[in-house]
Amino acid sequence: MSYRIERAKTGRSSCRHCGMVIAAGAWRFGQTEEVSRWFHLGCASAGAPRAFAPFRAEAAAKLAAEPDREPASTRPRDREAERLLATSPDDPAARQVFIDKLLEAGDPWGEVLALYASGEDARARKLFKKHQADLTGGMAPKLFEWEDGFLVDALVESQSQAQLGEQLDRVFGLRTACVLRNLRIPIVPDEALIRQVSERAPASLRGLFSHLGPALDHLDRPGLDTLVFFVPARSVPPERLFSGVGVPDVRTLEMFSNNSPLSPEFLRSLLRSPLVARLSRLGLFQGALSSQGADVVLEEADRLDGIESVWFEVPNAQKGAIAKRFQGRLRGLGE
Ligand SMILES: [Zn+2]
Repeated sequence: MSYRIERAKTGRSSCRHCGMVIAAGAWRFGQTEEVSRWFHLGCASAGAPRAFAPFRAEAAAKLAAEPDREPASTRPRDREAERLLATSPDDPAARQVFIDKLLEAGDPWGEVLALYASGEDARARKLFKKHQADLTGGMAPKLFEWEDGFLVDALVESQSQAQLGEQLDRVFGLRTACVLRNLRIPIVPDEALIRQVSERAPASLRGLFSHLGPALDHLDRPGLDTLVFFVPARSVPPERLFSGVGVPDVRTLEMFSNNSPLSPEFLRSLLRSPLVARLSRLGLFQGALSSQGADVVLEEADRLDGIESVWFEVPNAQKGAIAKRFQGRLRGLGE
């Protein structure tokens, strides 16, 4: 594989180590042969130590002549206005007050939001693009989803928990994320990450998409109403999470298991948990239910009587029995 140092032709690549955009014209280290993989020159020795080793001297000389550019600076935030908006993020009047404050402060984000609010989406998108580095804090745009100019969905991606923690810090530090709704952490999170989410995420956070692990017992987030987990093989049920204590407002729970079925013990403790007892939607997908697992669901079905809608992927042999038992509120039985 041929690695090289080159100048980024566009600002479309992002660094595999820190997750930030690599600005057009900046030095980058990486390769495109199999998959495109790039690093800031200053991040390469931490991100790809072996491949980078032969390039150290060349990189040091280049960095000495031209240091990596600093990410876009962040503007001062009006925390009080953000707090007010977070209490009723979808109320047009509250939004207008918020937008007016930004405009008064001369924040270009206010102009973007005002254009969206008046239905001028094309102009809003154009202006957004112009200020993108500022509005995304220099992070890769593909990590975020926006709605009417507000960052509503964020993905943090990295190989290490520490880097993820830094990325989370940056996301929570963005003024544009003050009404963030969904957060995606595509690894088994450690305790530090879960505490960070519990303590620092904006009050508007409603959905957490992650991998199930013991650290989720440290989740303390009233207001979260949706939990979606990938469940690694041989997972042990997080006891406190399933008790529902740290997540009193959860109403939707979905689990995906990538064809390694949940054990009957896991399923029993899930279906008998206080958390499941107050759900309005439950989904078990991606081979989460073996034939044995489907039997457990049927055995424990009484506990699911209060749930308005269920979705189970079950082996063919049990489809009939499950369909009959959950008639009228079954959203699906398989792929
Ligand atoms: Zn980097």
